[in-house]
Amino acid sequence: MPYSPAAVTYLLKLGELTLKGENRGGFEQALRRNARSMLKGTGTQLVATDGRYFIHASENVSEKIEFTLNHLFGITGWARTRFCEKTIDAVCKACVEEAHALLADGGAGGGVKTFKVEARRTDKSFPLESYGIMAAAGEAVLAAIPALKVDVHKPDAVITVEIREKAYIYAGNRKGLRGLPVGTAGRGLLLLSGGIDSPVAGFLMAGRGMSIDAAHFHAYPYTSKEARDKVVRIAKTLGHYTLGVRLHIVGFTNVQMRIKEKAPPAWTTILLRMAMMEAAESIAREERCKCLISGESLSQVASQTIENIRCTESRTTMPILRPLIGMDKESVTRIAEKIGTYKTSILPYEDCCVLFSPKHPTLRGDVEEASAYYERLELGDLIEKAARERDEENCSFVGRRLPS
Ligand code: ATP
Ligand code: MG
Repeated sequence: MPYSPAAVTYLLKLGELTLKGENRGGFEQALRRNARSMLKGTGTQLVATDGRYFIHASENVSEKIEFTLNHLFGITGWARTRFCEKTIDAVCKACVEEAHALLADGGAGGGVKTFKVEARRTDKSFPLESYGIMAAAGEAVLAAIPALKVDVHKPDAVITVEIREKAYIYAGNRKGLRGLPVGTAGRGLLLLSGGIDSPVAGFLMAGRGMSIDAAHFHAYPYTSKEARDKVVRIAKTLGHYTLGVRLHIVGFTNVQMRIKEKAPPAWTTILLRMAMMEAAESIAREERCKCLISGESLSQVASQTIENIRCTESRTTMPILRPLIGMDKESVTRIAEKIGTYKTSILPYEDCCVLFSPKHPTLRGDVEEASAYYERLELGDLIEKAARERDEENCSFVGRRLPS
C-alpha cells in the first residue's frame, strides 16, 4: 500500500510466541485469525513478516485499530509507525518528522525535551550498521530541532528505526497484553458472579490462550433484573479480550430454596457452591469446555478456606482453575480496573450467594459431612432442570464500532 497521509500503518511485536518452537506456527495462525476477526469490517490489511506484523488501514479506523491492539492477547507491543525508502536520507527525514510529531502531540509527547534513536537492521545490505543509523538520525533531529537534546540513559522519548523490507520509524511504543492468543488452549467455563474477582479470573485464563464460556447463577426474583444486566455487561467487557463470551444464565432459585429449607444454616453457602459446581460441570461438558474457572482466592472469605474449597469441588471431576488463588484483593482490583470490569462490578446489585448467607458460616467444613448434607438435599433433578432451562446470551466482541 503506498504511503499517503490518509493511510496509517501499525507495527505489532510478537513476544512469547517466538519461544514456542514447533508450536509457533499454530500460535501465529491463531493470532492472525484473532486480529483479523477483531478488525472485521474495517478494511484493514494485516501483513505478517518475520517477528513483526503490520496493519495497513485508513486513518478513519485508527481508533478501532488501537482499541483492538489494546485487547489482543499475544503481542508484546505495538506502535503507529511511518515508513519510507531504505536510504539514510529518507530515514533521517522520517526521524525528523517523527520528532516534530512528538513535540506537537500534547499526549504521549507532552513535555518531551530529550530523546534517543534506537536502530535495528534485519536487512544487512543497508549501508549503515545500527550504530551508524542511530548517529546519523540523531544528528539530523538535533540539527532540525535545536530545543531537543540527546539522553541515551533516560530519554523522554525513543525514536526507533527498523530496517526491514522497508524502513520503519516510530516513537510512542505501546505495551501489548502479552500472553498467548485466545483459542490456543481450548475452552473453559468461567463461573461468573457480579463481583470483582471472577472477570479477572476469566481474563487471566484468556491470557493463557483459553476461550471463555461463562455461567452465572441467579435467584430471580430474589435477585433483580439489574443484577443480571450487570453480569451481561461484565461479560461483554471481558468479551472484548476473548472474541466474545457465551454467557449461560442459570436460574437457581429452587436449588437455593431447597438448601435453605433443609440444610443447617451454617452450611448453606458451602452447599450452594457445591451445587453451582455440579451444574457448571454439566454445562461445561455439553459446551465442550475442558475445565471450570473460578475467582476463588485462598481465605478471602469463609467459603474459601482450603477446607471449604475442598468441599466445594468435591462433587466435580473436571479440573478447576483458580488463577487468583494466591492473589490479594488489591492486586485483583488493579487488574479489574485495567481491564475495565471494575466500574461495573462495584454497582450495588446483590449476588444470589449473599441473599441466603448465614451469620455464622462453617469455616473449616469436613468434606464427608458436606457430602452427607448434600446428598440428603436430593438436588439432582433441580440442578439438571436449572441447567437445561438456562438462558444463553452471546456477549460478542464489538464488530465495526467501538463500544459505548
Ligand atoms: P467474585 O464473585 O467476583 O469473586 P466475590 O468475591 O464477591 O466476587 P465470592 O463469594 O468470592 O465472590 O465467590 C467466589 C467465586 O465463586 C467467584 O469468583 C465465582 O467464580 C463463583 N461465584 C460466586 N457466585 C457466583 C454466581 N452467582 N454465579 C456464578 N459464579 C459465582
Ligand atoms: Mg471473590
